[in-house]
Amino acid sequence: MTCAQMGGPAECNFVVTGETAEEMAKNGGEHVMQSHPDIAEQMKNMTPEQNAQWMADFQPKFDAAPEM
Ligand SMILES: [Zn+2]
Repeated sequence: MTCAQMGGPAECNFVVTGETAEEMAKNGGEHVMQSHPDIAEQMKNMTPEQNAQWMADFQPKFDAAPEM
């Protein structure tokens, strides 16, 4: 999945890989820290509830994505 598909900027085509949704979230997070400091800042301010909501939204997208 690309960064944009994971909620990053629409123009970012960085491909995030991972075996599980958790791994994708971790790898995507690392990319965001390096490339999108403004989004990283928003992520840091997310509450545990918002984090859980993000994972809940992301899991079906990950499940629907083709194998990479
Ligand atoms: Zn990106």
